[in-house]
Formats: sequence, structure tokens, C-alpha cells
Amino acid sequence: MSTSGNLDSQQPHVALIPSAGMGHLIPFLRLAASLVNHHCRVTLITTHPTVSLAESRFISSFLSAFPQITEKQFHLLPLDPTLSNKSDDPFFLQWQIIRRSAHLLSPLLISSVSPLSAVISDVTLSSAITPITTDLDLPNYILFTSSARMCSLFACFPNCSVDQFDDDIEIPGLPTIPISSIPPALLNSKSLFATIFLQNAQEVMKSNGVLINTFEALEGDILHAINDRKVLNGFPPLYAIGPFLPCEFEKRDHGGNSPLKWLDDQPDGSIVYVSFGSRTALSREQMKELGNGLVSSGFKFLWVVKDKKVDKDDEESLDNLIGNELMERIQDHGNLVIKNWVDQDEILSHKAVGGFVGHGGWNSLAEAAWHGVRLLVWPQSGDQKMNAETVERSGLGMWVKSWDWGQQVVVKGDEIGEKIKEMMENNLLKSQATLITEEARKAVGDCGSSERTLKGLIQKWKINN
Ligand code: UDP
Ligand code: UDP
Repeated sequence: MSTSGNLDSQQPHVALIPSAGMGHLIPFLRLAASLVNHHCRVTLITTHPTVSLAESRFISSFLSAFPQITEKQFHLLPLDPTLSNKSDDPFFLQWQIIRRSAHLLSPLLISSVSPLSAVISDVTLSSAITPITTDLDLPNYILFTSSARMCSLFACFPNCSVDQFDDDIEIPGLPTIPISSIPPALLNSKSLFATIFLQNAQEVMKSNGVLINTFEALEGDILHAINDRKVLNGFPPLYAIGPFLPCEFEKRDHGGNSPLKWLDDQPDGSIVYVSFGSRTALSREQMKELGNGLVSSGFKFLWVVKDKKVDKDDEESLDNLIGNELMERIQDHGNLVIKNWVDQDEILSHKAVGGFVGHGGWNSLAEAAWHGVRLLVWPQSGDQKMNAETVERSGLGMWVKSWDWGQQVVVKGDEIGEKIKEMMENNLLKSQATLITEEARKAVGDCGSSERTLKGLIQKWKINN
């Protein structure tokens, strides 16, 4: 047998099953690209239909960029009508639809051209997918799409009764989680989110391991506490393999309207980049206060505005949203406001960008760490306060706890402006951000902790082939 034949027969074959929302799809596509670069064979399970246009666009540009990846289309059942009033969040409902359709995955996983060495599915789907992989006798890994800090809550969740969440949560070996940081939907044990979260947290124990987009220098203490079984005895191995690197296929052609052209004309480190991720819309009132705050900060800014959770519904014009008077003041100062998908990686990597005001979505935070951009995190919902804790502890950025959750308080423009100024003028944050980007690069470099961990996993899959 030839050497290359030998190598091929050892090539691990991994199937990836992402969940709904760009914050879930993007890390899966970046992981898929990394596995291809590490000579794995990859099958991507794509769900149809998707909730947002951004998801379907990303999937098609990804598949064009990686023709060697096999796509398996997963056509979803309709939503169980009894659940339609359980959440007004189309992405959470889609998680439930994917879970409900999970039995349709078996034939897709069996009919692979070569047998699978492992299946990696999104944490939001884990309890629905474990029975399938168990039946098929396939190693089953979970991709946890948030911080290790959030993972520590996930790990100990089945042991805390949600109805007893009237106090802070003590996690063995780690700083206490204040009740104010717990995702609000988890405080209502009957919410769809809490139900799914609990089922997944119980079932994750049966998986072979949990992969996470973080790295030693950022969350080493938490990773060790979980892996030393201090948080929960029996929690599967947690593999820190981040930060996941943005890829070429993510770049979009903006024609003549790329914000990069505008950034090219700005002095180094002078710009505040403002974005609340792919699915967070501020209230109209808060949006205006934010606009006023940005103007009053005295720093120039690039602000990406979102008015609706799902991109297809985001039809209002910028002028209507922000109002002519504020829009004029914004433009008089030479700032840029955009209301469409931007290539965040290209923006964060631009030398003109000096700070990032964002909601604390984990992918955005990992991208800021990768590019060494300091942050003012303004958590709006979900895991974002847990993630903000990590940012604050690492020195990469700051957050203002009194701003609480978005939608609960309207933060006034003056205060926003002051905090933006504080973040941009804080040299300690700036130098810490530089250190963190160096550590992030080391982690994924040749002998880095994340690279060694990923290679170790791939080796394990090869041996089990
Ligand atoms: N993103 C982007 N352009 C946009 C909005 C979002 O590239 O206009 C990307 C961002 O870089 C990140 C992801 O979408 O990779 C959003 O994930 P995150 O976890 O930060 O927040 P979520 O959108 O899930 O709340
Ligand atoms: N999550 C989890 N287990 C679950 C469901 C969700 O750990 O069963 C985590 C997951 O990492 C997700 C976060 O909780 O990113 C939820 O955050 P959010 O409500 O902001 O939703 P997302 O923006 O991720 O779609």
C-alpha cells in the first residue's frame, strides 16, 4: 500500500452539525475550515430553511470556497404548533425545530462516503443528537459556542434548581456567579431557553468531549477548574481550541461602499467601532441615546445599526430610525453609520480601530481578543454578562454593571459618551489588549496550547478510525 493511501485511510472524517443564528454558524464554519487545514475530511450538515439571509449566504459562500467539503442537506420539520407561543425569538424556536427533526439526521450520518470518526454538534442541540450518535455508535463531541465562564454555569446547572435562583451561584473552585449575571431566560424554569438548557446540560455528560472557542491565556483558570472536575465530577473533557480564525470566504463585496475605504482615511487607533452582533436590536429610544453618546464622546466612530432580530425584517431606513437631526450631527462630525452586514473581522483588524463597543456576544469578544482591540461591553441578554466577566477579568475591556440588561434600563447619552471616552483613553486596557492578542496568536501557533489540543483530538480520531 502506498504511503499516501495509508494517510488517506487514516484521515479522520468529521461531521459538523451547527445550530441556528450567525453566532452559532460562524464558529462551526471556522472550525470546519480549520479541520480541513488539518487534513480532516469534513461533512457539513446544513439546515433548510435558515432563519436569516445571512446564514444562507454564509453557507453558500463557504461551500463554494471549500468544494472538498461534503454538504448534507437537513430538511427540517415544521415547528410544533404548541411551542409557537413559547418564545418570540425565531432563533430559539429554530433550535427547537432542529431538535425536533433530529431523528432525520441518522440517514445523513450513515450514508457518508467514508465512515465518520466523530460528530460535532452545537451545544443547543446536544440532548437531541446524543441518542442518534449513541444508536449509530459514533463518537459525539459538542461545540460550546460561548465562554468557558458560561460553560461553568452550564456544567453546574443541573445541580442548581432554577426556582432557587434567588441567590448568587457558588461554583466550586471559581468566582461566584452573581445572580445578576445569569441569563434572564434561565431564571424562568418554564421558558423554552431554560428547558432546552437543562436538557442539554444533563445530556452533555454522555458526550466524548466539549470543544470551546477560547484559549489558556484568556480563561485558563476556568478551563482547569472544569477539567480538574472541580466544577462537576464527570463533566466530559473540555478542549480549548480557540480563538477560531476568520476566513477568506466571509469577506463580502461591498462594491464602492466598503467601510474599509472610510477607515483607510482615519488616523491609527482613533475610531470607536460599535456593533451589537447579528441579532440584537436596541430599542429606538436607546438607539438615539447611543447616537448622542457617541457624538458627545468626542471620538470618531463607525456604528452598525440593527433594528430587528432577523435581517429579512430590517427594512426601516437609517434616517427614520435615527432621525434627521441626530443623523446630521453624526455626519457633520465625519462619522459613519451603516445598516447592513459588515465584515467585522476586516474592521477589527484595521489599524484605525482603537476600541469596540459591543453586546458581549462570544464570537465578537474572541475576535476583539484576536485583534487586540479593547472593549466597552454592554450586555443585552443571554450569556453576555458571563462573557463580560471574562473580558473584565482578563483586562481586555470594561463593562458598566449599572447598565444592567438592554431593554431594562435606558442608558443616557451623556453617560455612554463618558464611558466610551474612558475606554478609549485607558492605556492599561490598550496595553493589556496588545498582550492578549500576542497570547491569542501563540495559542494557535505551531506549539501553542490550542493547536496542540486540536492536533491531539485529531490524533485520537485517527486512532479510532
Ligand atoms: N458579524 C459580522 N458582521 C455583522 C454582524 C455580525 O461579521 O454585521 C459577525 C461577528 O463578527 C461575529 C458574529 O457575527 O462573528 C456574531 O456573533 P456574536 O457571538 O458576537 O453575537 P450574536 O450575533 O450571536 O449575538
Ligand atoms: N447555551 C448553552 N446551552 C444550551 C443553550 C444555550 O450553553 O442548551 C449557551 C450557548 O452557548 C449560547 C448561549 O447559551 O451561545 C445563549 O446565548 P443567547 O441567548 O445570547 O443566544 P445566542 O446569541 O447564542 O443565539
